[in-house]
Amino acid sequence: MPDTFTDEQRQFLQLLGMPVPGDRPPEMVQAQPMVEAQTILPNRPVSAQAQPASDSRPSARRDVGSATAALLPAEVAPTPVRSPAPPLKAEALQAPVLATQTSTPSADPQRITRIATLDWRDLNNMVSTCQACPLGETRKHAVFGAGNPRGSWLFVGEAPGAEEDRRGEAFVGRAGQLLDNMLRAMGLSREQDVYIANILKCRPPNNRDPLGPEVQACMPYLQRQIALLQPRVIVALGRFAAQGLLQVGTPLSQLRGTTQHYQGIPLIVTYHPAYLLRNPIDKRKVWEDLKRALAVPRQ
Ligand code: URA
Repeated sequence: MPDTFTDEQRQFLQLLGMPVPGDRPPEMVQAQPMVEAQTILPNRPVSAQAQPASDSRPSARRDVGSATAALLPAEVAPTPVRSPAPPLKAEALQAPVLATQTSTPSADPQRITRIATLDWRDLNNMVSTCQACPLGETRKHAVFGAGNPRGSWLFVGEAPGAEEDRRGEAFVGRAGQLLDNMLRAMGLSREQDVYIANILKCRPPNNRDPLGPEVQACMPYLQRQIALLQPRVIVALGRFAAQGLLQVGTPLSQLRGTTQHYQGIPLIVTYHPAYLLRNPIDKRKVWEDLKRALAVPRQ
């Protein structure tokens, strides 16, 4: 933890509701963009710039442990949470979520080929009535995505939560508010620059982790969204987004701090906003990830 903070770090932490020693309380601080908004440019692949992970800790248990409020000095105590936190989900420890091939109907090559030809409207229609996995039975609404389908940034989350399921919109709950603050700190907005999608379009009951067959069934939708969007940069929010897009089982702690690629598109991995709500101390590390994303060269 640094003893001193640059203006940039200070502003970012304030936007995310983190107290910065010696500063006014965060609610008194006016949110200001920290960088100029990115203009929309076509994506061009860039070469990987793998660097040592800034967080080389091997397991999420240690991530979670590091955020234990009781062990922290008062000035870095986590942001107060108004409603009870949801059950803890480790970000990096559990088994990888790979869309493994099985013989379920969702793996039907014809379905996958058809999805790969759909335009935005038909894709949205197909998602809204999808029954390719059992989540089609339990959801209230499928959540297709949010933001600007012409944006040059794509942020990918895990799956809709209760509020998203109720309203049929992506990232509209508390995690969504935090994501909006992260975007604002980057000088981005969902209205102009960013499209937001999830690995799963339907809410898993009780916000449980996505299952492999669900990811397998849903992945063609996200793949088509990416093909239509052609983002310049992808930011994967959390383990499920990162492992699902990259089709690897590498822990989040090893993916953070590197520039990965999805079909030639630079992909940066950071923590999921819902994880950050439970582990506010890790908000400090997110700014490093987002700066890496902002540094992806325009071509
Ligand atoms: N968490 C996600 O991953 N996606 C949402 O849309 C909301 C919360």
